[in-house]
Amino acid sequence: MAPLILIVEDEAPLAEMLRYNLEKAGFRTHVAISGEEALHRIEIELPDLAVVDWMLPERSGIEVCRLLRARTDTERLPIIMLTARGEEGDRVLGLEVGADDYVVKPYSPREMIARINALLRRSDIHGGATVKEYGGIVIDLDSHRVTRDGHSVRLSPKCFRLLETLMDRPGTVFSRDKLLGRVWGGDVFVEPRTVDVHIRRLRVALNAQGGGEIIRTVRSAGYALDETPG
Ligand code: CA
Repeated sequence: MAPLILIVEDEAPLAEMLRYNLEKAGFRTHVAISGEEALHRIEIELPDLAVVDWMLPERSGIEVCRLLRARTDTERLPIIMLTARGEEGDRVLGLEVGADDYVVKPYSPREMIARINALLRRSDIHGGATVKEYGGIVIDLDSHRVTRDGHSVRLSPKCFRLLETLMDRPGTVFSRDKLLGRVWGGDVFVEPRTVDVHIRRLRVALNAQGGGEIIRTVRSAGYALDETPG
């Protein structure tokens, strides 16, 4: 799938121009006009990179940046800050709070795309965690291979994505709605019960070689990956 770029920009014409150019260059895009909306978008689908405008209403771009860095699932997300010309102090601060790069407005679409490609290459190589491990489970996001205690585990794409999501934050309870958003992209035709069905399949696949139960059901709350019983 084409990389997903999250655009956080409150000025509609600017957001639209960037969206148009990125999609023309083959990227997928989500647009958010505020920090709140950006966080909501991230729940629906994790982007591969975020372009965050400095000047946003309510939460500033800097705050959005800090929030993203504080979350396990976005702590390594490549971030490009957009600043207005002449805000040198801001740029430095932007890099300090964890932006990977900044682009000064007005910018050419070509420059932006070059920066995005450079960052995506860098995060590919250094990695962003392409392998996650927890409780004897190893999930390789590149090859889509999963093992548990060294035994290969075969999963459908949805079960794979479900496991990948739970492994983002082991021990954390994910509600059905959250899992629906992450795995099914908030598809309105998918019922919460579908999550239960896939969790059951995932359990069967993970426990096939005799490993103990590792997915905890939290009544009326959701599911968590947890290797400590009880
Ligand atoms: Ca703005």
